[in-house]
Amino acid sequence: MTATSMMDQYHSLKASVPDAILLFRMGDFYEMFHDDAVIAAPILDIALTARNKHDPEPIPMAGVPHHSVANYIERLTEAGHRVAIAEQVGEVPKKGLVERRIVRVVTPGVTYDPRALPAQQRTWLVAVARHEQAYGVAFLEVSTGDLRVAELSQDAHVLAEVERLEPREALFGPGVPSSVVRAVSRQVRLVSEVDAEAWEPQAATDELAATVGVVPVDLGTVARVCAGAVLRYAREQLGGDLSNVHGVEAYTPHAFMVIDEATRRNLELARTLIGQRRRGSLLDLIDKTQTPMGARTLGDWVASPLLATTDIEARQGCVAALVTEAPARRDLRAALSEIVDIPRIGARISQATAHARDLAALLRSLQAAPKVLQAIAGLAVLDSHRPTDLVDDVTQDLATWLVDDPPQSMTEGGMIRPEADPELAELHRLALDGVSIIAKLEAEEQEKTGIPSLKIKRNRVFGYFLEVTSAHLHKVPDRFLRKQTLSNCERYITPELKELEEKVLGADERRRALEYERFVELRQRVSAESARLLTLARALAGLDALASLAEVAAMRRWVQPTVDASQQLDIRAGRHPMVEAALDEERFVPNDVRLDPEHRSLIVLTGPNMSGKSTVLRQTAIIAVLAQMGSFVPADGAHIGVCDRVFTRVGAADDLRRGQSTFMVEMSETASILQHATDRSLVVLDEIGRGTSTYDGLAIAWAVAEDLVDRVQCRALFATHYHELCELAEVRGTVANQSVAVTEVDGQILFLRRLKAGGASRSYGIQCARIAGLPGPVIDRANALLSQFEERQPLAERRQLTLFAAGGPPPTSESAVPEVAKPEPDPVRDRLAGVDPDDLSPRQAMELVYELRGLLSGKVS
Ligand code: ADP
Ligand code: MG
Repeated sequence: MTATSMMDQYHSLKASVPDAILLFRMGDFYEMFHDDAVIAAPILDIALTARNKHDPEPIPMAGVPHHSVANYIERLTEAGHRVAIAEQVGEVPKKGLVERRIVRVVTPGVTYDPRALPAQQRTWLVAVARHEQAYGVAFLEVSTGDLRVAELSQDAHVLAEVERLEPREALFGPGVPSSVVRAVSRQVRLVSEVDAEAWEPQAATDELAATVGVVPVDLGTVARVCAGAVLRYAREQLGGDLSNVHGVEAYTPHAFMVIDEATRRNLELARTLIGQRRRGSLLDLIDKTQTPMGARTLGDWVASPLLATTDIEARQGCVAALVTEAPARRDLRAALSEIVDIPRIGARISQATAHARDLAALLRSLQAAPKVLQAIAGLAVLDSHRPTDLVDDVTQDLATWLVDDPPQSMTEGGMIRPEADPELAELHRLALDGVSIIAKLEAEEQEKTGIPSLKIKRNRVFGYFLEVTSAHLHKVPDRFLRKQTLSNCERYITPELKELEEKVLGADERRRALEYERFVELRQRVSAESARLLTLARALAGLDALASLAEVAAMRRWVQPTVDASQQLDIRAGRHPMVEAALDEERFVPNDVRLDPEHRSLIVLTGPNMSGKSTVLRQTAIIAVLAQMGSFVPADGAHIGVCDRVFTRVGAADDLRRGQSTFMVEMSETASILQHATDRSLVVLDEIGRGTSTYDGLAIAWAVAEDLVDRVQCRALFATHYHELCELAEVRGTVANQSVAVTEVDGQILFLRRLKAGGASRSYGIQCARIAGLPGPVIDRANALLSQFEERQPLAERRQLTLFAAGGPPPTSESAVPEVAKPEPDPVRDRLAGVDPDDLSPRQAMELVYELRGLLSGKVS
């Protein structure tokens, strides 16, 4: 095999998948070359080496061992790459090249081995199509066989669905507007293409029918088009059938609360704001599931709170029953803990990659399923969640054929119960007999030759042989044929031994081959029942998620909220679940929040930094989400009128993850709230308007609040550091002011974390400054200035704000800027005026503080 011709083979394969990283199988490794190696090495944290190191231009190369390739592939696709796998096919010839072929292409949405995927996470692939003004989306998860489709009427709904399910890869049909393509593309790791033909209604329908059998008659054209396209693309990448996809689930997105991306992030529903980790998120906190499929179902529920009170109450009823019936909950969870990831094992069974150990795990799970039924036997409310088909026949089949603890290898035998098959039993007996006959022969030969240390051994090269140590060579009879001389012994064979060997090894080989055959047949029979297995898995996953919500409710003493079609929001002693869980010594201080469109539609919340404003805001939204999931909530009592949407926005200056020039983002997000919020929505605004100059910011905050109250008439919470906004309550009857109480003890600010009526005192800023160590003269001066401002400003401000309120023209610069006594030249002030806080890194801010302190001490001394 010459290097050039192998590289020729490489290049011709690579040319057929130019946009993929090619994993080129070479013996026990998969190698990557050229740019592929350069791109992959840092992602996989492996060494970048070179082929032909001594050439003037060595070829960059990196390789991974074949046995752990699944994890490496997942890391590459997770990073948004497409990965083509070239395998060696056929025998390795003595001379020349082994043939290689690309067997499949792995992408973020067409995953490789379910075992390498994060167990709790979904890996959707989405297809978006447009047909006669209607949009369709189809979501396919190859690793579980789930296929969901929906028809949608608006651009925004497409994006909302994508934000809800977070697909990893997207396909776009012809006619999808570029704005939608752009918005969706930003949310996925990879955008891919499929043949134009795939999007034709007839071709798509045929593809769908070929995969799922019967296409539901009420499935609209655009939904069929999406489903067909997504299946075709996946099938082409897989290089095989999607035999674990058994049905298509048509759903209506209008059944779910809309939670946009920014809100999902701010509330940390599934991931934390900092670090984007699951740990520390709401989902993590409420996840007490016992199975990976249960964890994924719970994730689906968090992403999709319900709207119909009947659905919400139905789920809540199940949770409530499991909260009350602690023994049933305990037994249910214990039974579930014996159950493994059935859908993902199902995918491996369908793709014929499942090992005997996978089937054994499946068997143990199926054997535990009756215990699940037993545990909830007394709970009638769970009837609709009870699995109706425990696939006993599959359990029976597996139990008949599989041994209890099969080995990893599928070719070495030991997987199949010999008693299941007479032919296998006979081969077993022969193999075993042979072994004992050989032991007998060994004893006989020891006797005959008088060599007590004579041994019959076996190796790959000679098969069975007799071994005699050097000390006894003189006793070896002539009928022993010498095969090999070692330093301290000699090895012989006899015709009798070879005859026995034939029998023993032959039987063993035939046994292994037969076991493999029986195993593959068994796997095929299970695969044929995978639709029933998936239905069972779905029921178990649902029960697991319900039990998890019940467990958390019981553990954390949450209560069952009242959820109805009203527009109330009344939370008594509500808590922020994650903040509460993170406190060690300090106790979380619960707070009441009450909103309704008629009496109190908007609360303006003020209070110093770190007092707890954001926490109250977020906990209110989180409680609404939990309530509509059907969960209990962290409060002493809650009455939640169904929210069609929940919005939260955090002002640029308070948003930790954002960089500079984010004011535009803040404003466009705020704009989207005003466009989409309805009188059924819950809007939570945290320091909006802070990303610009004070007067601009205040004006915008005021106008937004006014619009929410007057036009949208939704329930809203508005945390702000603009105390002026408190004046809105004077002109709008349904606006209330609240603040977070603080007090001063021994020169320290003490945060009480308690909401009280009325706006916050504004002197806390100066108080903080004093505690932080600003020199006395500066504090005195600040106090003096403050009274000056307060004497002069309200008038000017009132005028300005009333103008806005009345929809009049913006104030002129004279009326907006209060006249302050002519200031002395002040280097601190000038320096401060010259910086844009949004432009500063934390480090620069720190340096600035030191610099300002320097300037001050220069002045004071
Ligand atoms: P603000 O938005 O007013 O700056 P935060 O809501 O971010 O304040 O709260 C700051 C910190 O105070 C939180 O990270 C948390 O540790 C603590 N905290 C907030 N609310 C409470 C509460 N009700 N009980 C106990 N600790 C709280
Ligand atoms: Mg805050």
